[in-house]
Amino acid sequence: MRIVQTSVITENIKEMCIEANHYLSKDMKAVLDQAVESEKAPLGKQILNQLEENLRIAAEDMIPICQDTGMAVIFLEIGQDVHFEGGLLEDAVNEGVRQGYEEGFLRKSVVKDPLIRENTKDNTPAVIHYEIVSGDKVKITVAPKGFGSENMSRIFMLKPADGIEGVKEAILTAVKEAGPNACPPMVIGVGIGGTFEKCAWMAKKALTRPVDEHSPVPYIREMEEELLHRINKTGIGPGGLGGSTTAFAVNINTYPTHIAGLPVAVNICCHVNRHAVRII
Ligand code: SF4
Repeated sequence: MRIVQTSVITENIKEMCIEANHYLSKDMKAVLDQAVESEKAPLGKQILNQLEENLRIAAEDMIPICQDTGMAVIFLEIGQDVHFEGGLLEDAVNEGVRQGYEEGFLRKSVVKDPLIRENTKDNTPAVIHYEIVSGDKVKITVAPKGFGSENMSRIFMLKPADGIEGVKEAILTAVKEAGPNACPPMVIGVGIGGTFEKCAWMAKKALTRPVDEHSPVPYIREMEEELLHRINKTGIGPGGLGGSTTAFAVNINTYPTHIAGLPVAVNICCHVNRHAVRII
């Protein structure tokens, strides 16, 4: 049994909220660099160059990469040999978000009630996903999610007979309908299988997988590669202004499902696919 003080969770999450909003992860930066080289459309190339310049200025001057600093989505993978002390874990996470968004001068974008819509003024509460895993470590992933792209995400409750081609069509439909509204180049997180909520969770988690990593399942890897190719053929391009760089990656997670269903969730993220990861 390992004891972890919840104050350690707060401190890490505070720092990670600031980090994720000012620096893109190495894999995202690398794929953007590659796209600047490979994009042939002059306007598309210009947009990508502007995105690179924006990233450089954000890091140098400590300005958020985007004005929409997102709703804080936190994944906690908790080793089952960990025991937390010092207060409620959920409170510790939200305190980290509160401090991070205050100290980092990040935009507070969360409303307390979805219909009354009064801003909570500290970007809490976060959306927290807990997983119990083996071991005595805690893996924290902080993924602030902008809503330009979140709003373009979709769930399709397909029929088993729709098969793999139906799944591909659903993903392509979501991307085409998102178009410029999702601030492309996008990263496409997909969940296939499970139930209604499980596939949405898998799609969100897929966005945190490095964009240079594929699914370990051979046919899913092929599907990721084929879909990326087809998405980049749509011509939507950087900023939706045309070109061959519409998406950087398609990341697919799968799970067993019911004999009568084929749920597919498509969680779209923009070029500001933020995530900071720490293991404590
Ligand atoms: S979708 Fe992404 S790039 Fe567009 S405004 Fe939101 S966070 Fe910013």
